Amino acid sequence: MSDYDYDYFVIGGGSGGVRSARIAAAHGARTALAEERYLGGTCVNVGCVPKKLMVFASQFADAFRDAAGYGWTVDPSGHDWSTLIANKDREIARLNDAYRRNLEAPGVTIYEQRARLADPHTIELADGRRVTADRILIATGGWPQMPDQPGVREHAISSNEFFHLPAMPRRVVIAGGGYIAVEFAGILNGLGAEVTQLYRRDLFLRGFDMDVRQALAEEMPKRGIDLRFNTVVTRIDKPGGDLQVTLNGGEVLMADAVIYAVGRRPLTEGLGLEAAGVALSDSGAVIVDEGYRSSVPHIFAVGDVIDRVALTPVAINEGHALADTLFGGNPRGISYQNIPSAVFSQPPVASVGLAEHEARRKHGEIDVYRTRFRPMRATLAGRDTQTMIKILVDRATQKVVGCHMVGDDGPEIIQGVAIAMNLGATKADFDRTIGLHPTAAEEFVTLRTKVADPVEAAAE
Ligand code: NDP
Repeated sequence: MSDYDYDYFVIGGGSGGVRSARIAAAHGARTALAEERYLGGTCVNVGCVPKKLMVFASQFADAFRDAAGYGWTVDPSGHDWSTLIANKDREIARLNDAYRRNLEAPGVTIYEQRARLADPHTIELADGRRVTADRILIATGGWPQMPDQPGVREHAISSNEFFHLPAMPRRVVIAGGGYIAVEFAGILNGLGAEVTQLYRRDLFLRGFDMDVRQALAEEMPKRGIDLRFNTVVTRIDKPGGDLQVTLNGGEVLMADAVIYAVGRRPLTEGLGLEAAGVALSDSGAVIVDEGYRSSVPHIFAVGDVIDRVALTPVAINEGHALADTLFGGNPRGISYQNIPSAVFSQPPVASVGLAEHEARRKHGEIDVYRTRFRPMRATLAGRDTQTMIKILVDRATQKVVGCHMVGDDGPEIIQGVAIAMNLGATKADFDRTIGLHPTAAEEFVTLRTKVADPVEAAAE
């Protein structure tokens, strides 16, 4: 046992920090955790969880529209935003409590206040108390960034505020072309808002497979989203009640809300890290080695604050592996291979493994299998929508190196596909698996036609 007050002090009670603290305490370490806002961090409070609940809320729009083709008479006469927000808040309060109990059960001391490093082994709490720790974990996550254009900081909101809007905005401008922007566009469109989404380059979701990007760019306008590429906001004014959003071409849009979803930055300011000798990258991320160790050997960092893979399950696994390594006698890392991810757009995107441009770069010759079809549910509904499924195979080994889907249930399907890929499945393994009929998922095992002459996807 060390002479310090704690063996392990975790700054940040989000996905990575909570898991690491809980496991360390279960391994017998005297552990404390400080959280200044809300237990569960971004994911539980202003991220994955409320977002998914609001996606569910918005998906009723499709169900109501489809219902007539199946013989139902439905009158979707109204949606009550305040009921949705109140119910969502109640669920989040339940989760906050669950996180607290999960920390308290193995004996973690919780400080519900801001903490910073006073020196490399001393943590100063907002109430002035000082405690010492042998090892320290920085798990403070990230925060939405807002650019400096005129009027943006005054009049636009980020994802943090979106989840607490007192009323649903009727006309919304969304700036950005990443995960959050397309997810929010789908939510607000489904709930009945007029949505304009702006992206600064040719095609959004940069880094994703080109077929995924194109498929979603075709689908969103079919639902009434006004998708504008090569478009940015130059200024926002609020002369009266409405927001005036001026675009680079000179056009002015009137809006009730402007939401910026233009990336997140690691939250490392004011933590005393530099003074303690912790090296940060240009983006402000804590620089760590494979063992999540910073430039100060007893200070570690996991999750969004290391700016590696900003996904909740990754942060959780990193925090867990670190606690096992430091206190469980089980030194281990985690695998970053084949991490499945989804964008809960409408329809959703689900991907695992490499995008086509990455597969070509890494493997040289690849076989591309792709299909597009109208999902069965849309047939009687008469809805104009297409599902896209794509499999990328390394020609030399025949191993499946990337799977992508844009279509309903994609995220539920791709999780299982990720297991197969982690087992090293070949295309022949996919092919000998009998399909489950009738589903969209069966296309992953029945897809036989190679794209004849695949045009190389753009580099990014
Ligand atoms: P992303 O990094 O995904 O996307 C940022 C977007 O904003 C890009 O389209 C980028 O364009 C654009 N952008 C950046 N700066 C500007 C600017 N100054 N003006 C206009 N546009 C700009 O960020 P998000 O905020 O959407 O999400 C943050 C992270 O959170 C994600 O990367 C993801 O890891 C995680 N997340 C995961 C989710 C999930 O798993 N479903 C859901 C939500 C978030 P460009 O392409 O040109 O750089």
